[in-house]
Amino acid sequence: MTEHDALLAAVLADPEDDLPRLVYADWLEENGQGELAEFIRVQCEMGRAPKRHGAGAFCQCRRCVLYRRECELLDEYAYLWFPPPLVACLSPAGTHFRVPTPGMVGAHVTRGFAGHIACTLADWLSVGPAVVRSHPVTSVVLTDREPDDNGGAAVWWFSDATGRSDGTSAFVRDPIFYLLAGHAAGFRNSRYYPTREAALSALSAALIAWAKSQPHPARLSATPVSVDLTHDADRTVTSIAFRMSDGGTRHVPDMPPPG
Ligand SMILES: [Zn+2]
Repeated sequence: MTEHDALLAAVLADPEDDLPRLVYADWLEENGQGELAEFIRVQCEMGRAPKRHGAGAFCQCRRCVLYRRECELLDEYAYLWFPPPLVACLSPAGTHFRVPTPGMVGAHVTRGFAGHIACTLADWLSVGPAVVRSHPVTSVVLTDREPDDNGGAAVWWFSDATGRSDGTSAFVRDPIFYLLAGHAAGFRNSRYYPTREAALSALSAALIAWAKSQPHPARLSATPVSVDLTHDADRTVTSIAFRMSDGGTRHVPDMPPPG
């Protein structure tokens, strides 16, 4: 294990603690990644700073200075630090966090890393194992899954191998279903929870456990090496094209700024 990997592993092992993140930031700075190091420090300090207030763009309080720097760094580097299909946002209420489209994985970036993810089940099965190896993910929300309300209980169902359950948002297929904690009532093809929140929380835990259990660390295979932005007359970004490390190109159309 390289020094980098060991320091990153310490971050992943303790998502609540800032210290491993700040140690990792020191390593980044010593190894030519000063901007990412600054971003991690800025976001960690923001987590401890007084709550944001409604002051204008020129307020010089520490919280506002940090917030403006956070936005500048993310504007400049989000597409390199959180490469497609990740879409970084600063707020869990951000547009992409609530409704990322299929193929896009909403990542709420906090204290320097993606901590909360929103995407479809298919996208999580595709990229989840890579994401959890780079980010201390503590919650995953699936945008295409919603538990059934069954007599006051919230229920996830198992979609069997025949595929007869496809298209029903309360069905969670293998391999995730068997990692779900919860009460199996009657047939063993269901998991019952007292509330919707409990069902969503159990699903999130199962998704993370599954991703971490994958035997071969499937890192995001290609990373962006450069970015071409297309602007309209108002300097609004209208399209983003990444040249990837594997020689390919990825286009991200209609992407609003992180927020
Ligand atoms: Zn202020």
